[in-house]
Amino acid sequence: MVLNRLYALPFASLITLLLALSTPLTWADTANSDKTMVSSLSEDESVEDIETSEPRHPQGGVKDAPEDEPGDEAKSPSPPPPVTDTAEGQASPEAANTATGSSGSESGSKVIAPNVDLKKEVTSAPEPVPSPAAGETPITNQTNQPEERLDEPDSPTSSPGHGTIRPDASVSKVPDTPRPAPVIPPPVAENFTLLNAEVMPGTSTRLAWSPGIQIAGLSQPTPVLVVNGAQPGPVLCLTGAVHGDELNGIEIVRRIMYDLDPKKLSGTVVGIPIVNVQGFQQGSRYLADRRDLNRYFPGDPAGSLAGRIAHSLFEQVIRHCTLLVDVHTGSLKRTNLPQMRADMNDPEVAEFTRGFDGMAIVHSSGGPGMLRTAATKAGIVTVTMEAGESLRIQEHQIKAGVNSIHSLMEKQNMLSRFFVWGDPEPVYYDSHWIRVDQGGILFSDVDLGDKIVDGQILGIVADPITNVQIPVRADADGRVIGMAVDQVVMAGFAAYHVGLKAETPGEE
Ligand SMILES: [Zn+2]
Repeated sequence: MVLNRLYALPFASLITLLLALSTPLTWADTANSDKTMVSSLSEDESVEDIETSEPRHPQGGVKDAPEDEPGDEAKSPSPPPPVTDTAEGQASPEAANTATGSSGSESGSKVIAPNVDLKKEVTSAPEPVPSPAAGETPITNQTNQPEERLDEPDSPTSSPGHGTIRPDASVSKVPDTPRPAPVIPPPVAENFTLLNAEVMPGTSTRLAWSPGIQIAGLSQPTPVLVVNGAQPGPVLCLTGAVHGDELNGIEIVRRIMYDLDPKKLSGTVVGIPIVNVQGFQQGSRYLADRRDLNRYFPGDPAGSLAGRIAHSLFEQVIRHCTLLVDVHTGSLKRTNLPQMRADMNDPEVAEFTRGFDGMAIVHSSGGPGMLRTAATKAGIVTVTMEAGESLRIQEHQIKAGVNSIHSLMEKQNMLSRFFVWGDPEPVYYDSHWIRVDQGGILFSDVDLGDKIVDGQILGIVADPITNVQIPVRADADGRVIGMAVDQVVMAGFAAYHVGLKAETPGEE
């Protein structure tokens, strides 16, 4: 099956690569992080992004920016569309036939997702939403049977026969009525509905999202991993490889998802390790039409290929999230210090970023069409995580991402584990790129995370013909939060991304 290959092949080779790649944690040492700094730029820096980025509005003048934009889209955080009727029509036929159940307490008429123990089962590929009959059988060896869950608040069995208990008897002298005492149940998790499937509390499963782009019936369903906790809480979504060549994010999402125990989780975690399957299969950042998917959200069902894929993902999955972390890496042979990109003008987003231990925060209002921008506009608290460089698996970057998301989930009260990891990282409110003035081969003398001073030599560009060696110097005090890997460069190439020391106006 296609999906089997899709998972088995890259992950097997990735794992072996992981063991071979262990680079020193150069970024980890961050002293006096009380300095707050910033930057306004866009994900995956390119010249265009940097030159068109907008400055931060420190006094909160655009706090409600999402509302005063003359949006061409339905910008209100509209409720999720009914999943029983997908416009894309791409759900499996079985699912479409069976997903129109009543909302009765017995979930018999709903499509119950099979409970897959993500920690143990490593071979089965995600299937399109199964029929109820199929969903019961293939997991007979599971211990996490859905029947174990203790919700069902309408179940009267929890107060057997204690008809005399009246909680409010002392307050209101209600004459004896034989009705049973009102049971105030503890908050219980509910079924999580996604992609025409019902994921029971305390279970995990694999679903498949398909954007409906197909040729003669060939489509590329994308695995969607869901862990629905036994306790209620937020819906945290993790997306990887929106750019198909950004591998660290795939591995970060995989490690998070396969480490979760649904019995101990409060809330729901939805992980899409590989959003851009087309690009992933080709080792490319882009879609098959050479478009950048991360410039087309929230999408257009009648638009380009990218617009349609973006629309499908956004409507079918993203709108079900309350929190979203979109994981990226640097691009164009550049690497990023593990960092969060966040619109610090948005109070909810700013608060959200406090949950990420060990991550520098780089302010960025976000460009049009980015998943982060569109999701934030739709009322989903969203940040972008940047870790490392594309086309590589980098163990220390992956660990940083995994640990930081773990700390986030703990701060969101989704996990009760106690994570101690890293010191708080500064917020960078200003940054810029230092460019080389001569073509040649770039050799860096600094590492990611290094603190640098004005005038310091960051690297040299050596002309391989004339042996002329031109140093690249820092033009300000700051810290290297992104940089190019050693490579052949042309004059004007942006080589070092420097977070600047700048006091924050009015920000804690
Ligand atoms: Zn990216």
